[in-house]
Amino acid sequence: MKAAEIRSTFLKFFESKGHAIVASSPVIPGDDPTLLFTNAGMNQFKDVFLGFDKRPYSRATTSQKCIRAGGKHNDLDNVGYTARHHTFFEMLGNFSFGDYFKKDAISYAWELLTVHFKLPSDKLWVTVYAEDDEAYEIWNKVVGVPAERIVRIGDNKGGRYMSDNFWMMGDTGPCGPCTEIFYDHGPEVAGGPPGSPDEDGDRYIEIWNNVFMQFNRTEDGVMHKLPKPSVDTGMGLERLAAVLQHVHSNYEIDLFVNLLAAAKQAVDAASPAGNDCDASSPSLKVIADHIRACSFIVTDGVIPGNEGRGYVLRRIARRAIRHGYKLGARKPFFHTLVKALAAEMGEAYPELARDAQRVTEVLKTEEERFFQTIHHGMEILEAALANMDKSGTKTIDGDTAFKLHDTYGFPVDLTGDVCRERGVAVDEAGFQAAMNRQREQARAAAKFKMAAGLSYDGAPTTFHGYEHLQCETSKVTALYID
Ligand code: ATP
Ligand code: MG
Ligand code: MG
Ligand code: MG
Repeated sequence: MKAAEIRSTFLKFFESKGHAIVASSPVIPGDDPTLLFTNAGMNQFKDVFLGFDKRPYSRATTSQKCIRAGGKHNDLDNVGYTARHHTFFEMLGNFSFGDYFKKDAISYAWELLTVHFKLPSDKLWVTVYAEDDEAYEIWNKVVGVPAERIVRIGDNKGGRYMSDNFWMMGDTGPCGPCTEIFYDHGPEVAGGPPGSPDEDGDRYIEIWNNVFMQFNRTEDGVMHKLPKPSVDTGMGLERLAAVLQHVHSNYEIDLFVNLLAAAKQAVDAASPAGNDCDASSPSLKVIADHIRACSFIVTDGVIPGNEGRGYVLRRIARRAIRHGYKLGARKPFFHTLVKALAAEMGEAYPELARDAQRVTEVLKTEEERFFQTIHHGMEILEAALANMDKSGTKTIDGDTAFKLHDTYGFPVDLTGDVCRERGVAVDEAGFQAAMNRQREQARAAAKFKMAAGLSYDGAPTTFHGYEHLQCETSKVTALYID
């Protein structure tokens, strides 16, 4: 079943259960300063859950464009490393605004997966929030999932890779306990079942999260009960497509086949004659993923820049460009992929097809800019890495990372991405200290000039990105590291 058919089967199924089909909202949230990018289907309904907004329907279903490349849900560093994470993906969802609750949500999900998509029930595992006996009983008694495939899981206390059955949109906003459905891709793939120590593999893949929205978390950390218990679900279209197309990686589904081929062609065409990069390279997957994210972000109104969303966009684009460079590209190639993407996804998202020319131009400008410095930057980084090989150190110093950032336009996570391939870390604290030093100097220089009555012609190019980037979290460390 092709992705387009999966998308429409999902929407039609929920329409038959009384849900209104609602269009995806843009990847840039309307007027929600707590959110950098749309990270889930429920974002556009946030105020409905909170009781501030009313809609003519109490049930809705969507296929939502999502970006997870910053803030609470950040998968940028996973791309190229796992078979299941993208920076841009489509989330299929059904929503109940104070209408049905746990029993119907679970029954609908099971019916859709096992009857309409015909997934074998013995390949499906479920997790429930540790204390949620009600959800456990529904799965076990009503649906008939055997106890050995139901796992109770609590809050995420173990870090980002641990399963987590309390879902939050961000540090504030609607949230609640959830139950998740996993698909077992079989013993050929490494990884353990949810909740086990090696769950972070690609064998047991989380396909669908059903959140029982019951609280609004405010900045002080207090959980306020929502006016009405509601349901918010999200299933990754690409993950379900992998299951239904009998492949284990998202990057092998129909949506990616042409895009990956186009990426290889574009990289080889931009490389010295005779270059024939490895068609199975993770770098091509990164490029194919990132052209989707960058194109949708530009289509929805952001351009690369040094602050906030524009800087996230720049980081994604430059990360992709560096992967092309690694494969041999020595001139711009990335922007040419917009065309292949529009051919693949323009029907489902007409705005992409309509805007393809402009998006190509915007990305081309960014790419040309980065190609002016990437070569020298890579030489400096390679030299630093070679020195480290000799000295045996495993951390790139903060001053080098800062120089790469400041002079050569290497976002620190890009430097981190190169280093990670070599088993080396970046001294993030040292980087931040170098950045602060430069800021102080810029401030002092500006003050001096003003005191001396000189015209203020702008301090040396100061980077402001991190001050504004993270409107979703108060943690300063999360600004440029996940
Ligand atoms: P994971 O644990 O695999 O990172 P998650 O728990 O962060 O996923 P949710 O926030 O529960 O994901 O989102 C709902 C669904 O969206 C997931 O069950 C999955 O199918 C899909 N999904 C989440 N993140 C991604 C991603 N980066 N790329 C593709 N699909 C994703
Ligand atoms: Mg995640
Ligand atoms: Mg998860
Ligand atoms: Mg989840």
